[in-house]
Parts: sequence; structure tokens; C-alpha cells
Amino acid sequence: MFTTHDPIPMNLFDSHCHLDKLDLAPFGESFDVFMAAAFTAGVRRMLCVAIHPERWQAMAELVSPYVIASGNRPQVWLSFGIHPTEAPEYALDAEAIVAFVQASQYRTHIAAIGETGLDYFRSGEAEHWQHERFRAHIAAAIELKKPVIIHTRAAAKDTMDVLKSENARDCGGVMHCFVEDWDTAKKALDLGFYLSFSGILTYKTAADLRETAKKAPQDRILLETDAPYLAPVPHRGKPNTPIFVRHTAQVLADVRGESLDVVAEYSTANTCRWLNLPLPA
Ligand SMILES: [Zn+2]
Repeated sequence: MFTTHDPIPMNLFDSHCHLDKLDLAPFGESFDVFMAAAFTAGVRRMLCVAIHPERWQAMAELVSPYVIASGNRPQVWLSFGIHPTEAPEYALDAEAIVAFVQASQYRTHIAAIGETGLDYFRSGEAEHWQHERFRAHIAAAIELKKPVIIHTRAAAKDTMDVLKSENARDCGGVMHCFVEDWDTAKKALDLGFYLSFSGILTYKTAADLRETAKKAPQDRILLETDAPYLAPVPHRGKPNTPIFVRHTAQVLADVRGESLDVVAEYSTANTCRWLNLPLPA
């Protein structure tokens, strides 16, 4: 039978999602039903990102049945931080992040720190508390020897300056939901960082981003959904889930002239290397 697209690879890794925020209505309001559907759709690994300290523990508990590898369900790793637009003025220092991670019963499943970064979209300018929190996350990541997840919006120059001045090269990290220009991509790559592409890559208006994705080195590319946000075409505007990561993978394959299988294989291998996880067999 002829299909326009390759069969769905069975080894996709959604490197950034918010599993405590999904719309579970299509899955009978059941997190377990959703996870089974994700496994069937080839999403075998996910990194679940917490964005507010008051929800860290609840999120860890929600995904806890999935942190151990099992034959027929996705495996989940965790990242803890406070999003740059979340709870303005809320102070979070490096010690608090380190203490939480070290005391957590899920410690061995915590693979990254964040998301953190700078977002001037609403403020239109630098805000001191965002910078403080950003630096705290980097310091915690260096101390914990875990990579950091970076969110940047309307603040590319300052974001890269802080990463440099705070020695983020020492922990490594990812530019999550990457939408910046090639110059910023190069700066991130020079710091040893990865670039993660989300559903934005599939949007009609994202021609420049697709050019960047075409030029990016194959061993630095990650895929993510940022679910429940930013659903890729053809689901744009609807609640996103990790199941849709394959649409972004397909567009990446198309623009780079690679097969979907090849994209799945290297993006999963890259994510494992980035998070210091064993490579899938
Ligand atoms: Zn996110």
C-alpha cells in the first residue's frame, strides 16, 4: 500500500513536555490510557519538565509509575525548575534546587534542571528577578552535574551572555523550542548546547527556522512537543500531546532530506547522550 509518509518509528523521544498539564479528555481522563496510546504511537521516552516549585512534588508523583523502564510503556525522566514567566518575583536560589533534587526519592530519575532562562516578551526588557533565577538554575545544574533546559524569548542576546558568563558550558544544556536565528544557534552550539525543535518547525511561517534546522549538525538536534502547548500541523491550535512529536520529526526529515527513521534514531540517541542516559539497545 502506498503512503506518503514513512511508517512511524517506534523509538521517539519527546525531550520536553509538561505531562501534568495535558488535556486527558481524549483519553477518558486517564493518564494511564494516554501513556499507553503514546507507547503505541512510538513515543518510548519523555522528559517531563516541572515549571513551578509548588507543583514539583505532585508532578513527580504523577509520572512516578513510569520512571522505571518497562516493556510496554514509555519511560519518563524528570526536570525541575521555575519557568521565567511563572510567578514573577518568586525567589528561588541554587541551594533550594540542589536540596530538592538531592532529597527527592526520584533523584536517580532527575535528568535535567529547568526550564529556566529569560523572557522579555511581556516585560519588553530585562527584569532583575528573571536574571537571578536564571543564574541560580545554572549554578545548581553545574553543582548537580546535570544539563540545563533554556527558554528564551525576545531575549536571545542576554540569554547567551548569561550562559557564557555563568559557565553553562560546564553543565551543558539545550535551547528548548528553538526559534532564534542561525547566529544564536551557532553561539549555543559553540557552548556545547543542543537545539531542540518543536511543533513551531511545522508552521507555515517558520521558513527561516526550517533553514536553521537544515544547517544544524545532526548530532546536536533534539525533538520535543512542549505539550500541551504548540501542537504541530495538522493539529495546530488544539491541545498538544507527546504523541504528536512525529509530525515535527517528519518535517525535520523532509527539510533535511533524511528518512523519518534516521531522524528518530539520531534525535533519540542525541537526547540520551545529552541527559547521560544509556543509549537504547
Ligand atoms: Zn516547556
